[in-house]
Amino acid sequence: MKQNRHQAIKRQLEAAAEVCLRQGVKLTDLRRRVLGLILETGGPSTAYQLLDRLKATHRNAVPPTIYRALDFLMEQRFIHKIERMNAFIPCTQADHFHRAVQFLICGQCGSVNEIEDPAIEKALERAAQRAGFQPAGAMVEINGTCATCARPSPKTRLPY
Ligand SMILES: [Zn+2]
Ligand SMILES: [Zn+2]
Repeated sequence: MKQNRHQAIKRQLEAAAEVCLRQGVKLTDLRRRVLGLILETGGPSTAYQLLDRLKATHRNAVPPTIYRALDFLMEQRFIHKIERMNAFIPCTQADHFHRAVQFLICGQCGSVNEIEDPAIEKALERAAQRAGFQPAGAMVEINGTCATCARPSPKTRLPY
């Protein structure tokens, strides 16, 4: 792993520890390790992939260990769950406080990117309220092709 990336993850973990301190909750060594693994992956990882990697440092880890840690990290909004992939990704928004999480999911390379558009949040809230519904949160999963995959590669480009 590149040094600056390593530093960035370290800073994110420290920031997470501060948030926990303010919230009066504990970022235990195990929770911190699981968050670290998710940050290192960057992309989506499943609970079992995380469990495999967790075993390197926590040999006795079992599925409930990882699920409890993931629940905690989701509650604190450090990570999000992509339902359709049954996978977890780090939250990329600094304040971790958005009611409508928005993801761009590439069907070709499987990359997931979080975006934040307050207009989408407001539109969803209004639509729900019009139906007399009290929204507690929303997750928008947008399928398609990412910018990298959409770009034609030089090899496949037609000769005209
Ligand atoms: Zn987020
Ligand atoms: Zn892609």
